[in-house]
Amino acid sequence: MRFKPFAPAPGDHAAFGPSEPISKGAVHVCILGGGFGGLYCALALHQRLGKGSRVRITLVEPRDRFNFTPLLYELLTRELAPWEIAPAYQDLLKHTAIDLRQDWAEQINLAEQTVTLRYGDPLTYDYLVVALGSQMRPPATPGSQSHTLPFNTLHDAEQLERRLGELDHLTQVRVVVAGAGPSGVELACKLSDRLGRRGHVTVVDRRGEILRSYPARLQRAAAGALAKRGVEVYLNAAIDTVDASGLTFGYEGNPRHCQADLMLWTVGTVPRAWLGQNMLKQTAFGQCQVRPTLQLPDYDNVFVLGDMASMPAPGRNRAPTTAQAAYQAGPVVAQNLLALIANRPLKPFIYNHLGDMLTLGQREAVVCGFGLCLTGRLGGVSRRWAYWLRLPTYGHRWQVLKHWLGWKR
Ligand SMILES: Cc1cc2nc3c(=O)[nH]c(=O)nc-3n(C[C@H](O)[C@H](O)[C@H](O)COP(=O)(O)OP(=O)(O)OC[C@H]3O[C@@H](n4cnc5c(N)ncnc54)[C@H](O)[C@@H]3O)c2cc1C
Repeated sequence: MRFKPFAPAPGDHAAFGPSEPISKGAVHVCILGGGFGGLYCALALHQRLGKGSRVRITLVEPRDRFNFTPLLYELLTRELAPWEIAPAYQDLLKHTAIDLRQDWAEQINLAEQTVTLRYGDPLTYDYLVVALGSQMRPPATPGSQSHTLPFNTLHDAEQLERRLGELDHLTQVRVVVAGAGPSGVELACKLSDRLGRRGHVTVVDRRGEILRSYPARLQRAAAGALAKRGVEVYLNAAIDTVDASGLTFGYEGNPRHCQADLMLWTVGTVPRAWLGQNMLKQTAFGQCQVRPTLQLPDYDNVFVLGDMASMPAPGRNRAPTTAQAAYQAGPVVAQNLLALIANRPLKPFIYNHLGDMLTLGQREAVVCGFGLCLTGRLGGVSRRWAYWLRLPTYGHRWQVLKHWLGWKR
């Protein structure tokens, strides 16, 4: 389908500037979601446009802080502070012309090229980028929603911190983590280190192995880290119910009840649903089908990326739902937007798997990539710097670096 005509001369994109109201002939790019896909796309677009451009960028994001999710666990052990991993959008965008709307996008009308917001006036776009990420799968296990805590956002980390505070008076704290995927394993190791001798951590998963789909070397390192901390791991254990006292699961043919003072639910996320009436092509996993250029099949001017999109990846079914994939896709979408505006050919997105990293306790991590696998403190240092390089802006990176080097903030 063709979008409403906008006809710049080839190579014209540099001539659009942010100073005019959107209605006065400027091109309006609207980006929904300020996570790894959306924010990094907005920043790359802004950087490429330069001064004097008349492309207007609006970023719609309900939170006030960007969440650098891979480093959320470090808040539990106080290795990092909230400002380091969750900088305010206002600070990140202050030297840019990106217009931040702190709001929820509620409806996308592809035919009218409009987005309805929960609180603000509707937006009209020329080009749309959708990167709304994932959300928790609606819980099917009775009691899980009311008795367990999620761990996906800064808000969840703060909630967990409050709960840990309430348990301060206990001489022994029994923690149960549902799920032995990356989140479950990383949480178990960090909480174990945080609680020290007071902690007794158990991980329960219905599958037969931890970190399914991760390389064997990484699985071994994680299993070693869990064992070193005395974390009890129950595999092939399907959770039946959760109540205030703990959770019950089937294990080796018998029901087993695990008492807990704190329960965390890390099982199952699903891509956020498309906002609107349009019937889009979706995969069985619920992701939007996109072209290799990350455009919607029937709408040239709409790009979808990150967890919501089934992004192509050589040698795989699709790119994984990770920050690594969304972070790589953001700048590609920015480049393709500019190519589309200037009538140039678009480039396909090619996901490049750079490796896997997991934190395995305080200051420890496993980092596997390029044929190497670093573990322990060396892994911890490597992971920390690899993520520092990926923090969203030079300004924020500089603030964090000064802090790490002990210079005044
Ligand atoms: C605890 C945790 C740890 C993780 N660790 C790793 C890791 O170590 N390595 C890795 O590669 N990946 C990791 N991930 C996965 C990674 O965070 C996601 O794959 C990545 O964030 C996806 O990027 P995205 O842009 O698609 O979505 P997100 O980064 O989630 O961004 C989506 C944004 O959309 C906003 N939004 C939602 N609904 C609306 C709406 N209606 N209107 C407007 N905005 C909306 C959200 O507030 C959010 O800011 C982790 C995830 C979690 C939860």
